[in-house]
Amino acid sequence: MDYTETQEHGMIRESIRQIASDYDRQYWREKVDEKEFPEEYWQDLARDGWLGVTIPEEYGGHDMGMLEMSMIIEELSRGGGQGGIVFVLTPVFGGIGIQRHGNEAQKEKYLTGIASGEIRFCMGLTEANAGVNTLNIETSAEKDGDEWVVDGQKMWISGVENADTMLLVARTSEFDPENPTHGVSLFLVDDPAAQEGITLSTLDVAVPWFEKQYQVDIDGLRVPEEKVLGAEDGGLYLLWDTLNTERIAGAASSLGGGLRAVDLAVDYANDREVFGQAIGGHQGIQHPLSDSYAKLMCAREMTYKAASLWDQNEECGAEANIAKLRTSEAATEAAHRAIQAHGGNGFTREYEVYDIWQNMRLTETVPVPNEMVKNYIGEHVLGMPKSY
Ligand SMILES: Cc1cc2nc3c(=O)[nH]c(=O)nc-3n(C[C@H](O)[C@H](O)[C@H](O)COP(=O)(O)OP(=O)(O)OC[C@H]3O[C@@H](n4cnc5c(N)ncnc54)[C@H](O)[C@@H]3O)c2cc1C
Repeated sequence: MDYTETQEHGMIRESIRQIASDYDRQYWREKVDEKEFPEEYWQDLARDGWLGVTIPEEYGGHDMGMLEMSMIIEELSRGGGQGGIVFVLTPVFGGIGIQRHGNEAQKEKYLTGIASGEIRFCMGLTEANAGVNTLNIETSAEKDGDEWVVDGQKMWISGVENADTMLLVARTSEFDPENPTHGVSLFLVDDPAAQEGITLSTLDVAVPWFEKQYQVDIDGLRVPEEKVLGAEDGGLYLLWDTLNTERIAGAASSLGGGLRAVDLAVDYANDREVFGQAIGGHQGIQHPLSDSYAKLMCAREMTYKAASLWDQNEECGAEANIAKLRTSEAATEAAHRAIQAHGGNGFTREYEVYDIWQNMRLTETVPVPNEMVKNYIGEHVLGMPKSY
């Protein structure tokens, strides 16, 4: 698999590093404290076309692939910003899904809007009673003339108030055990926070993100029929088709966060002197950081391999899942070690590493828990019986 880093990749990385370096720790702390969308950062990414990295040129994008998107997300996360979140919600959930399954009118509106920075997405999938078993979702939609009427409840939905469109997952036909993946559809709900049929309640989530999470109560929400994405009742195929890009983008985000933890710990350990020498000179501090860096570099290879396979339209489920698993674990461990290297300062907000640990720990669970990733590897890669 050829995923050699080209000169163009080097230029992309440099351009992203420059954007990231304009937004310091203070900026992100304020966004997290105020739960405020990082508008300037988003607009900088849009200005240089990076939000449309995979979007075809005819809709204003760069027409590149997941490999380039992975590098962008990695550099944004390594630069200390929450670029992973903005990319997973909009260019991945919104962009890739519509790129692959939208009709012409949807592509024209949404892809152009994503690339220009005018349209942001949120993703309405998780439900309290279904958990990771998406087949069990209870939110349902019924046809009424040329509209769908949706009722139900979603849980943990990030950034609804900042979103121009919600990708909403709802059951449109009764569950059929003979054909379990049939009967779910995807809806593009514009202005979700302003919809009469939607009530938002903020959840008390202890993660240092700028996005809030919501319980979304849906009561008689009317959605025009042209807002169904892909085939009616075929939404699960579409979701699973874009799942690997979600895994790859998530892996790139963890990778960047883990590398940032190592970078910060190295700087601190080279600077901080106790017993008359820099603590980085002690193997108890140095080796864990070297080990984390090595693990992250290996995980990076798998992330790029998965991205390159996707770009060449080849099967990449094994690689994408392995990349997601390894990066999330290596990044959490790296952040844990970075805290240790910082001593007491590791627990202050000024030094960032505790925030990084919380964010990296989250990636072991969100958007998909690592147990489900291991289930995939056990069943689909190793050929063992389905365990649940
Ligand atoms: C900060 C945050 C932001 C989020 N943003 C969004 C969002 O924007 N949109 C959205 O739709 N969702 C969002 N989520 C939801 C998130 O994707 C889910 O929390 C996650 O997928 C886990 O689902 P659950 O919480 O229902 O866990 P559960 O399904 O209750 O699972 C609990 C635990 O049991 C394990 N488990 C369950 N079944 C099995 C099995 N068969 N084998 C092995 N282990 C199993 C799981 O792996 C998990 O560890 C967000 C969550 C958080 C915390």
